[in-house]
Amino acid sequence: MTQAINEIRAQFPALNQDVNGKPLVYLDNGATTQKPQSVIDALSDYYRLNNSNVHRGAHTLSDRATQHFEDARKTLQAFLNANKAEEIVWTRGTTESINLVAATWGRQHIQAGDEILVTGMEHHSNIVPWQMLCQQTGATLRPIPVKDTGELDMEAFASMLSDKVKFVSVVHVSNALGTINPVEDIIKMAHEVGAKVLVDGAQAVSHWNVDVQALDADFYAFSGHKLFGPTGIGVLYGKEELLNAMPPYQGGGEMIEHCSFDGTTYNVLPYKFEAGTPNIAGAIGLAAAVNYLNGLDRVALEHHENALLVRANELADQIGGIRKVGTAPKKASVFSFLLDGAHPADVGTLLDQQGIAVRTGHHCAMPIMNQFNIPGTVRASFSFYNTMDDVERLFAGLEKAKMFLL
Ligand code: PMP
Repeated sequence: MTQAINEIRAQFPALNQDVNGKPLVYLDNGATTQKPQSVIDALSDYYRLNNSNVHRGAHTLSDRATQHFEDARKTLQAFLNANKAEEIVWTRGTTESINLVAATWGRQHIQAGDEILVTGMEHHSNIVPWQMLCQQTGATLRPIPVKDTGELDMEAFASMLSDKVKFVSVVHVSNALGTINPVEDIIKMAHEVGAKVLVDGAQAVSHWNVDVQALDADFYAFSGHKLFGPTGIGVLYGKEELLNAMPPYQGGGEMIEHCSFDGTTYNVLPYKFEAGTPNIAGAIGLAAAVNYLNGLDRVALEHHENALLVRANELADQIGGIRKVGTAPKKASVFSFLLDGAHPADVGTLLDQQGIAVRTGHHCAMPIMNQFNIPGTVRASFSFYNTMDDVERLFAGLEKAKMFLL
């Protein structure tokens, strides 16, 4: 595995540099992932060779750009095992994908007295759009409780379900805690009361292959930049019959079939939801990231990530003085913690001085931080290109930080 990981690391230019005089240890993959050379090349090839607007081209470059852009959609369709390419809507990222569903499906279906459920461990981007919808409609947003371990309380969820619940929007993997939620069960249970379900997959798709049909998710959202692709591009998967019945999100070019001052008719899927010139390079770059992942043994890499997490837990127990935040039995490779007596921001700065990049703060998940009565955590989030040496360096760095702080 070590050799395989070293070969993989060689593909990621940003990993191979010194930061503050030390070889970089990049453990902020939950915030964004680094990009392989093939993604960087796909972006630069597009701009060097094929740059043109899509879908209305009377010339060769536009045809090429359109072909690559639509091929990218098919790559993402296969990646998620969606039934049709039309079910893949390009967005700016997870945040926009969720806002799109809240503003379209939500405004069409949600009424006063209805309930929308999210979990208590959501990122703000899966809370605020629903809060805004509730303010507009008089519906109620209810958080499914989270246990002290960071596990979702599924009994509480079962008891919250009723025919008032019209929508359930849940995070697949918590960015703050690493908890993997049982989304398959959640979807089944929500469907039994007639509710639709959106899964926020921002932190899931980078760890394993998701199959939206096997999950029976109504909507699935994620961001390209957390999947080794570019920023500013993301995906909303939606079941065709739901997307077809939804009103458009934004108005403009691309999304119309016919426009006149007497009235406008809308384009077919997925263009109905893609007003304006899309992020063409981003879509092509994201497809390059998926093609890169398709060439790897993702199951073996997931085991490797799990081994990194196990090692982090062992080392945390050895050095002591560490409060782990998020200890659910089913976790992705996210290690969130507090160093006793130290503010997370100070720990982050002292690690950075040693070339170790982590995230500190509330991780845009203030409600779960409030539940644990903490201002935030230090979060080391591992990807498949991290090594055991990276984990050792983190804890050696923490030992050093302790000497300054305590
Ligand atoms: N949901 C989760 C679970 C996340 O981790 C993030 C990013 N931290 C988001 C949503 C939002 O993603 P983006 O900012 O790329 O839209």
